[in-house]
Amino acid sequence: MNFDDTPQEAAFRKEARSWIAANAPKQYEEELKTSSLGRTRLKDADILEVAKAWQKKKAAAGWACLHWPKDYGGRGASPIERVIWQQEEGPFGKLSGMFIIGHGMCGPTMMAYASEEHKRRYLPPLASGEKIWCQLFSEPAGGSDVAGLRTRAEKRGDDWIVNGQKIWTSGAHYSDYGILLTRTDPTVAKHKGLTMFFLDMKSAGVDVRPIRQANGQSEFNEVYFTDVKIPDAQRLGAVNDGWNVALTTLMNERMSIGAGVATGFPEIFEFCSNLMLDDGPAIDDRNVRAKLASWAVKASGLKYTSFRAISALSRGERPGPENSIGKLVAGSMIQDVAMYALDLQGAAGVLSGDQAELAGKFQAMLLRSPGTRVEGGTDEIMRNIIAERVLGLPGDIRVDKDVPFNQIPTKGRA
Ligand SMILES: Cc1cc2nc3c(=O)[nH]c(=O)nc-3n(C[C@H](O)[C@H](O)[C@H](O)COP(=O)(O)OP(=O)(O)OC[C@H]3O[C@@H](n4cnc5c(N)ncnc54)[C@H](O)[C@@H]3O)c2cc1C
Repeated sequence: MNFDDTPQEAAFRKEARSWIAANAPKQYEEELKTSSLGRTRLKDADILEVAKAWQKKKAAAGWACLHWPKDYGGRGASPIERVIWQQEEGPFGKLSGMFIIGHGMCGPTMMAYASEEHKRRYLPPLASGEKIWCQLFSEPAGGSDVAGLRTRAEKRGDDWIVNGQKIWTSGAHYSDYGILLTRTDPTVAKHKGLTMFFLDMKSAGVDVRPIRQANGQSEFNEVYFTDVKIPDAQRLGAVNDGWNVALTTLMNERMSIGAGVATGFPEIFEFCSNLMLDDGPAIDDRNVRAKLASWAVKASGLKYTSFRAISALSRGERPGPENSIGKLVAGSMIQDVAMYALDLQGAAGVLSGDQAELAGKFQAMLLRSPGTRVEGGTDEIMRNIIAERVLGLPGDIRVDKDVPFNQIPTKGRA
């Protein structure tokens, strides 16, 4: 591994750094720096508006969706330049949260499967943040097993008529478009009868209902479809080949999520360094030191694993399983870190929001952390992937894999 920039990479870093220094919304820098995982608000401004304005500015100067082709709103940059940009963007990168699904998953899926006309029409406003996209895959009966979904699309003339329900759709309440996975043939095995579309979220018959979370916010939604009409021209990929299209989205999902997971280590280290316990500074306490040491080892393991992925990108290779490992390890670590910080706060740990210590930073982290362990593949699914694809262990038992979908026994259809 060589962590030094090549001369070209160093020149790119310098250019990115000076553009960010001259253009970033500095008035939010401190707040973004100190906000933890789970914080999606700014004190005195609407984060969606601030994020859209920053994205628009980046797009106008050629710094949005760096690795996308220029014709579709990107810069045509190399994957390693994208990593350098993310390093330099630092806390301002937290403003990209609401674009992750569009830029990381919907965009690449559109790029692979949409018509040229649609790519030129829909991708530039997606890159510039003018339009926000969501991903409509999960359903009450289809989460980890997304191929078990039940939302139906039936062909009528040149249109498809969609009926059903999605759940956990992040950002659907502020999204303009979405990619939607549906069942088009229930008489074949579950993976073989799916078709993907993209749709306007303002279409008649789309009903978005925000879900209220434990932290009081609503980041994701239930989405109901009643006789929603989607033109056949908005189909992505062949009829009944939606599983292959979905795999493109899911591969990109793991890359985007895995690349950005936080561990909570800098936050807990700083907290313990400043905390006074009854018998002295927390940082001098033997138990606290043991905990910090074990998290330091994990955090540096993850750091160097991510450097391995970056080195692979720099050599023009595709990173391997590093992203599955990153999400698996960091997801549970951040939950442990937040729990420990609240234990150290004693009775005050049960407070939340601005009344709590450090304005509720660790409380927000704790409430968000289970979501990290579930989104983009649960811990168990990540372990299955590592076991099967990395270690070559025998596959999970999949009894319904080759059974026609409408023959799979369910509670109501034994
Ligand atoms: C913060 C957040 C944002 C999300 N955003 C979106 C979004 O924008 N769009 C979208 O479509 N979805 C979204 N999701 C949904 C997410 O993809 C699903 O929650 C996830 O795939 C798990 O599905 P499920 O909730 O139905 O759980 P289930 O699949 O029902 O799993 C329940 C439990 O069973 C375990 N399990 C399931 N299968 C296996 C197996 N084969 N082996 C071992 N254990 C297993 C799981 O690990 C889990 O512990 C989001 C979820 C979260 C938490």
